[in-house]
Amino acid sequence: MRLTTVLRRLIAVTSIFVRGCEFTDGGIILDVRPTWRKPRCSCCQRRCSGYDTQASRLWRHLGLGSVRIWLRYAPRRARCRRCNVTRVEHLPWASPNTGFTMAFEEMCAYLAQITDWTSVTKLLGIDWRTVGVIIGRVVDRELDPSRLEGLRRIGVDEFSYRKRHRYITIVVDHDSRRVVWAGEGKGAKALTRFFAQIGPEACRQLETVTMDMSAGYRRAVLDHAPQATIVFDRFHVQKLAGEALDQVRRQVVREADDSEFARAIKRSRWPLLKNAEDATEKDTRKLSDVERTYKPLYRAYLLKEALRKALSRRQPWRARRDLREWIGWAARSRLEPFKRLSRTIRKHFDGITAYIELRLTNGLVEGINAKSRMIARRAYGIHSAHALMGMIMLCSGGIVLSPALP
Ligand SMILES: [Zn+2]
Repeated sequence: MRLTTVLRRLIAVTSIFVRGCEFTDGGIILDVRPTWRKPRCSCCQRRCSGYDTQASRLWRHLGLGSVRIWLRYAPRRARCRRCNVTRVEHLPWASPNTGFTMAFEEMCAYLAQITDWTSVTKLLGIDWRTVGVIIGRVVDRELDPSRLEGLRRIGVDEFSYRKRHRYITIVVDHDSRRVVWAGEGKGAKALTRFFAQIGPEACRQLETVTMDMSAGYRRAVLDHAPQATIVFDRFHVQKLAGEALDQVRRQVVREADDSEFARAIKRSRWPLLKNAEDATEKDTRKLSDVERTYKPLYRAYLLKEALRKALSRRQPWRARRDLREWIGWAARSRLEPFKRLSRTIRKHFDGITAYIELRLTNGLVEGINAKSRMIARRAYGIHSAHALMGMIMLCSGGIVLSPALP
C-alpha cells in the first residue's frame, strides 16, 4: 500500500485525499485536498466556480500517540450563484474559520462532557479559552435544530453562578427531558427572549410551564403564553415552609435566655424539619420537649406538616379545601414568617394546586440545575455566561458524541 493511502486511512476523514507528508519537529504535516475537484459552497455545499486560492493553512487533527498531526491545504474561495456570496470553500475535514479538524473538536467536546477543563487542556495541548471556543462550535453544529419545535410542557429555572451574582435562565422540555434553551439573566426579561425566539405560534402551543414561585417568570408566561397552565413546584412550596419554620426557630434561639428552654430547643433543627413519618424515637422526644417548652415553635412545626399533607392530597378538591384552611390558620398563627407564606400561597393558589392535577414538578429542571452546578465547578474559572451556556447545552442538551476512530 502506498504511504499516502496508509496516511489517509489513519486520519480517517472521509472525502479527503493525501498528496504527501512532511515530518517536522512539531509533528507530521499531511498535504491534503478534498476528493472533489471543483470547490463547493460552504453554505449550500453545491459545486460552484472557483474565485481565487488563499495561502496554505494548517489544521490540527487528532494525534497518533504522542505525535501531532496537521493537515495542510491552500483553500480556494468559491463564488456561489445560488447563495450570491464569495466565500472560502466547503472542506470535508473542518468548519469554516477554525484551525482544528472536526474530529479534533469532537474529541475535545467529548472530553469536556466527561471531565474537567484542566484535564482537557492537558490531554489535547490547547489552552483554556480554546476549549470554550471549540465547545461553542460543536454545540452549534450538533444541537438538534428542531428542539424548539412542538414544545408542550416546559420547565423554567434560574441558575446562579459566580457567587450567585450572575444568572442564566434554563428552559427544559419535560417530554424530551433535555435543556432546549439557555439565556443570560433571570426573571421575566430573560424568559421573554425565549418566547421571542420560539415565536408566537409555538407560544400558543405551550400547555404547561413549571417554575418556582420566587423566580419571577410568571409575568412573561402571562404575557406571551396566557393559555399555558403555570405549575408552581410543590417541593419549592414545601421548602419555603421549611425556611419559615427555621426562621421561627432561630428567633426563639436568639431570645432564649432561660436554660431549660435553651436545652429543649437545642439540636431541634433536624427533628423539626423532618417529615413526621420519618421521625425516630429520639426525634419524637425532642419534638415533645419543644411542644412542652415553647408552643409557638411547635405550632410552626404543625403548620409545616399540615402544608405538606395538603399538597400530598390526591384529589384536587381535597387539596384545595385543605390548602384554604391552611392559609387561614397560617394567617392567624401570630408567626410572622408563616403569615408571609400564607399570603404568598394565596397569591399563587391556582399554580400550586395545578400540581395536584398535572403531577408535574420542577424536579427535572432542578436536577439539571444541580448538574450545571457540577459543570460550573469542573470548569471553574469559566467567567463568561457564553462559555457556561455552551457547557450546559453540551452536557444537558441531548448531544451525543462518539469520537472514537472508526
Ligand atoms: Zn451556495
